[in-house]
Amino acid sequence: MDDLNRLTIAAARDGLRDKSFTSAELTEACLGAIDGADALRAFVHKTPEIARAQAAQADAQIAQGAAADLCGVPIGIKDLFCTEGVASQAASRILDGFVPQYESSVTAQLRGQGAVMLGKLNMDEFAMGSSNETSVYGAAVNPWRRAGSDTPLTPGGSSGGSAAAVAADLCLAATGTDTGGSIRQPAAFTGITGLKPTYGRCSRWGIIAFASSLDQAGPMTRDVRDAAIMLGAMAGHDPRDSTSVDIPVPDFEAALTGDVRGKRIGIPNEYRIEGMPDEIAKLWEEGTSMLREAGAEIVEISLPHTKYALPAYYVIAPAEASSNLARYDGVRFGHRAALDAGDGITEMYEKTRAEGFGAEVQRRVMVGTYVLSAGFYDAYYNRARKVRALIKKDFDDVFAAGVDAILTPATPSAAFGLGEMSDADPVRMYLNDVFTVTVNLAGLPAISVPAGRDAEGLPLGLQLIGRPFEEGPLLNAAYSLERSAGFVAKPSKWW
Ligand code: GLN
Repeated sequence: MDDLNRLTIAAARDGLRDKSFTSAELTEACLGAIDGADALRAFVHKTPEIARAQAAQADAQIAQGAAADLCGVPIGIKDLFCTEGVASQAASRILDGFVPQYESSVTAQLRGQGAVMLGKLNMDEFAMGSSNETSVYGAAVNPWRRAGSDTPLTPGGSSGGSAAAVAADLCLAATGTDTGGSIRQPAAFTGITGLKPTYGRCSRWGIIAFASSLDQAGPMTRDVRDAAIMLGAMAGHDPRDSTSVDIPVPDFEAALTGDVRGKRIGIPNEYRIEGMPDEIAKLWEEGTSMLREAGAEIVEISLPHTKYALPAYYVIAPAEASSNLARYDGVRFGHRAALDAGDGITEMYEKTRAEGFGAEVQRRVMVGTYVLSAGFYDAYYNRARKVRALIKKDFDDVFAAGVDAILTPATPSAAFGLGEMSDADPVRMYLNDVFTVTVNLAGLPAISVPAGRDAEGLPLGLQLIGRPFEEGPLLNAAYSLERSAGFVAKPSKWW
């Protein structure tokens, strides 16, 4: 069978079970695709030996019957997840040479179910960014291009390598993490599906921390069914993460009936931002019509504190990051700067951190320490926390009024060119997250579904936001939208 690397997880699972092909064959197809795609800079640490050994084990397991859904399915892992014996660098120079002795809970679960790890995926440094351009490895490149142009585009960020790899058929699915949009925005930029689960649904243990009250791992897949399968494999209570929630993990795939009749879908007025491109407004309209035609009830809603979300996020996230990143001091992990005679411990810290962190990470550490400093704590950090509570209350009120899910655009534009925004004022880059950060501040689940293309042929995504811990119904609404939108386009291969 040709092109095994293009299969969905669901199709691979079925084909493996009925012995149409083996995991070894499927894995070779992916390894071949990866080796032919260095121009995308998606995989930054390849692990073919591990993949082949895991595929052989999976084939043995499948031969015995009783294999889990992901058994034998080759996936990629974002470089933010610690993987035992395999470099885990968070795309930062400061973690150069760091090889964890332990496995993150999420990747351990995936491994336990027989998933095959192909390698580690590119990302923005410490997951700070929206374009993958802050990576020490250099930016991952979007497999999509504008019609008639060979300008390299961003796959989005921070999970840009994950998105590029899934969109270019290098792996069947990938893990991502989302602190302010890092699963959903790259998914939208590359025509794939990205799900940020409810805060607490997946364990954060062993995932290199960015902003701990916002970080959440989730699946990046070809379609909604695969997101449901993969979430089931990643989710679950973990006593090692005190914020992971001890509730059962439902069968998310079983929730995909496609029936949304009578469901109330909220359209938030405040997301009609000034200067929204016509294409995005039109896509949003079309998505609304699709859900209405599928039998959902469309209601206008108000989330009045939306406009404060981005500023609050860019106080809270750097504050937490500055504290989390204090551990990179040249002593415990990775890189240590070369020292001059007479340098003491202070010089060692300073030189290591100055060399090890890139410009965006340094900016966040400085903003973070500033907003947490004695004189400014109340004015910035505490005020942002209060705003966060109000943003969450906006959502609580809407859900209490009977809204089942909220439909918004995923991003304010299609993928932009590499370099186009990184040279500009950083706030322009931060504006990319305008539709996604509210969800992290409120701890909610949300999914980006490819729903259309812009005038230049680039994919565009719609976002559905769900009630806490109701990923099943959220995935089902997304499934309905996916079926109506019928997005099947693929990037044409240039790499
Ligand atoms: N782009 C956002 C930021 O730079 C979100 C990143 C993320 O979700 N990890 O902070």
